[in-house]
Amino acid sequence: MKYVVVTGGVVSGLGKGVTASSIGVVLKACGLRVTSIKIDPYLNTDAGTISPFEHGEVFVLDDGGEVDLDLGNYERFLDVTLTRDNNITTGKIYQSVIDRERRGDYLGKTVQVIPHITDAIKDWITSVAVIPVDGRVGPADVCVIELGGTVGDIESMPFIEALRQLSYSVGQENFCLIHVSLVPVLGVVGEQKTKPTQHSVRELRALGLTPHLLACRSAQPLLDQTKEKLSQFCHVPAGNILSIHDVPNIWHVPLLLRYQDAHNAILKQLNLLSIAGPPDLQEWTKRAETFDNLTETVKVAMVGKYTGLSDSYLSVLKALLHACISCSLKPVIQWVAASDLEDEKAKEAPQVHAAAWETLKDSACILVPGGFGNRGTEGMILAAKFARENQVPYLGICLGMQISVIEFARSVLGLEKANSAEFDPDTPDPVVIFMPEGSRTHMGNTMRLGSRKTFFCDHNCITSKLYNNPDHVDERHRHRYEVNPDSVEALEAAGLKFMGKDETGRRMEILELPNHPFYVGVQFHPEFKSRPGRPSPLFTGFVLAASGRLKAYLS
Ligand code: GLN
Repeated sequence: MKYVVVTGGVVSGLGKGVTASSIGVVLKACGLRVTSIKIDPYLNTDAGTISPFEHGEVFVLDDGGEVDLDLGNYERFLDVTLTRDNNITTGKIYQSVIDRERRGDYLGKTVQVIPHITDAIKDWITSVAVIPVDGRVGPADVCVIELGGTVGDIESMPFIEALRQLSYSVGQENFCLIHVSLVPVLGVVGEQKTKPTQHSVRELRALGLTPHLLACRSAQPLLDQTKEKLSQFCHVPAGNILSIHDVPNIWHVPLLLRYQDAHNAILKQLNLLSIAGPPDLQEWTKRAETFDNLTETVKVAMVGKYTGLSDSYLSVLKALLHACISCSLKPVIQWVAASDLEDEKAKEAPQVHAAAWETLKDSACILVPGGFGNRGTEGMILAAKFARENQVPYLGICLGMQISVIEFARSVLGLEKANSAEFDPDTPDPVVIFMPEGSRTHMGNTMRLGSRKTFFCDHNCITSKLYNNPDHVDERHRHRYEVNPDSVEALEAAGLKFMGKDETGRRMEILELPNHPFYVGVQFHPEFKSRPGRPSPLFTGFVLAASGRLKAYLS
């Protein structure tokens, strides 16, 4: 196994994840099989309990792993299916070591960060790196490991030490270290400053790791003299210093790397030049350029709770983008904080309320994404009602589907107090209820997570046609609540149709409103499996409906 390790310096938020996945793309384009591991040096065992306000969305894998959103980048960029073990956290490592200690596996030894934690990290990396993730048998050729955080953080020290030991044990030609850093431009003269990078490389070297390549984030391309200076002070050949300057869209990053011959520098370090071919990035080039030249726009209202931080809905935004590109449309996201639509807001801040409604009405379609908790749900219900009554295309994902059921029950069935048991445990009409797959008494681990099958009960619907009339679809889930099976008959009699269910027929997975251009709710999250060249059919249908082209497409 060959390892490409990506660390970060100076500041967080440099786009290390995108750089690391782009490196993977270029290596894959050279004909290599690539897998990846993301290390998050926080104590949470997984990202499942972290608010999207903290690190952005929680990404869900096929196996039900709730992981850092960077794994989504890897899945999308490399077109692979990762496992929960591809995301290492400090919590996971400590838990495994403490479990072993309790079992007595350490035979009376004092258990310490070095060597026990560092050994556990190395074992984890070497065993996960060989798991096939691209649907083929046998291990990948290269494993890209991204270390979260910034070099020098106390939290990442055991990982840095473990990676240092790994570099020694696997040998020079199996280890390539790429350090992502920042080159700011200061003052009126606009000089590219190398000092922050010098310091962070010095920090890295003090810890026993010398980078083979530097990937420098900057607004403009790095000047030759900047590279020379960095080379001298950082002990990295100028030819191995990459300029990761601002580009019109992230799909340009792999192209930027190829253009600077990054693949050759990496392949040389890993002694892979003889088996790798020249990178074929035709599809990426086409996609990056198509995106730059899109003119026809489609305005999508995103009615959610975490609208302040767009990373909270990263996969939804990517899925919209994939779908739009395939239809030559340019998405314009119109953020609407759900709570701003509520009647309460009209009293408290009438202008904010009016502006939110104006944005909603100005959109060609409305998307209510997943979410948890009460906040903003009444506003989402109003948005769903507006979409239903005004024939505006609506896509409700997970919470968004539950919202449309509540709305329909209230407005059409006249059950004014209808609600989800999540938001109002005492509602007389719980149309959405807690229906765990396992125990009802144990609250832990009650989330329905990961890939589950949805069977179509009727193929005469938009969703089935969009998916090309399969017997079933496999999509990822992350929820606790379900449409109440006891409410289904009344809802259907009034016109809301459930077109897809789980294998028991008890769990509603897909709903549609016939006689509406596109009113679809799904209990699953189609966004997690959308890929740049393979958009999610539901998102494609949604944006086509918004641009008035769905009928033609389906026929
Ligand atoms: N809160 C809802 C549930 O637990 C929806 C979850 C979601 O949208 N991911 O079922």
